[in-house]
Amino acid sequence: MPFCRLTRSAAAGAAAAMLAVLTISLALPARAQQPATSTSTPDGEVFALKLPAAATPAANEASGTVQFIGTATVLIRYQGFTILTDPNFLHKGDHVHLGYGISAERLTNPAIELDKLPAIDFVVLSHMHEDHFDKLVQEKLPKDTPIVTTKESAASLEKLGFTRGIGLGKWDQVEVEKGESRMRLTAVPGRHGKAGMQALLPSVMGSMLDFGPNKAAPTYRMYISGDTLVYDDLKNIPQRFPGIDLALLHLGGTRILGVFKVTMDGKDGVQLLQIIRPQHAIPIHYNDYDVFKSPLADFAREAKAAGLEEQVSYLAHGETYSFKPRTR
Ligand SMILES: [Zn+2]
Repeated sequence: MPFCRLTRSAAAGAAAAMLAVLTISLALPARAQQPATSTSTPDGEVFALKLPAAATPAANEASGTVQFIGTATVLIRYQGFTILTDPNFLHKGDHVHLGYGISAERLTNPAIELDKLPAIDFVVLSHMHEDHFDKLVQEKLPKDTPIVTTKESAASLEKLGFTRGIGLGKWDQVEVEKGESRMRLTAVPGRHGKAGMQALLPSVMGSMLDFGPNKAAPTYRMYISGDTLVYDDLKNIPQRFPGIDLALLHLGGTRILGVFKVTMDGKDGVQLLQIIRPQHAIPIHYNDYDVFKSPLADFAREAKAAGLEEQVSYLAHGETYSFKPRTR
């Protein structure tokens, strides 16, 4: 167990501690501040997030970009929106704590420093682990940044002083409005580990980002997997959201205690592509921590073997993928 600071005998004690913590956290109500308006639909809650209009209207912007910063951190810019995912701005040699005495060492640097980011409209946070929302971000990110995340993470964010967390359950949505620009985010299934491990790991959401005013025909549909393994519920995603333009895949084949796989390895990533069937895909969340055990080469090899290599763009840290609105 080269990366783990627990001995095996300590692991049993850690498991008991995990259950104790879980019991306590379940007893706490989720009280994250929600936007003023939300409505119930048969498919879940729909929240409204109204952002101040930009000086220059950009609703008809001709192209969008996805810039890979590192780990699962990307900057998405399209139609006037600037969206940051899973902010992790620690450096090579820094450690993150994944709970229960388990830590991981970062092996890379972020392509942009936290204080050099452009103005962010909102953050999408797949779950509360420090390789997705680190101590630096907890301290320095403005506390009034809107953060769209799971209900569990929204409750944690509130305890950290963040005032605009929006906690979503599965299939809940946020309708985002900024001047003339419109988009919506839907929380889609994701599960960090096998069924038996769920109680020991944070809840995770995948995200579907639909851009444009027309709900039935988005100008661009982007899926972000979150830290998930492949399991049956993921098959419901393409049924509800056909025609995905771009998928961002959290890979890495992360191993906890050297044994338990909690994120997709290369083979899983290709399996997810075959389920989701996006037009295009970008792997992220690989090679950044010592607990990421499946290098990007695993995925590249599997994608090639499956005949999917044409659909994949590989971004080095700092590189940007550009896209155009969907034409049908
Ligand atoms: Zn992760």
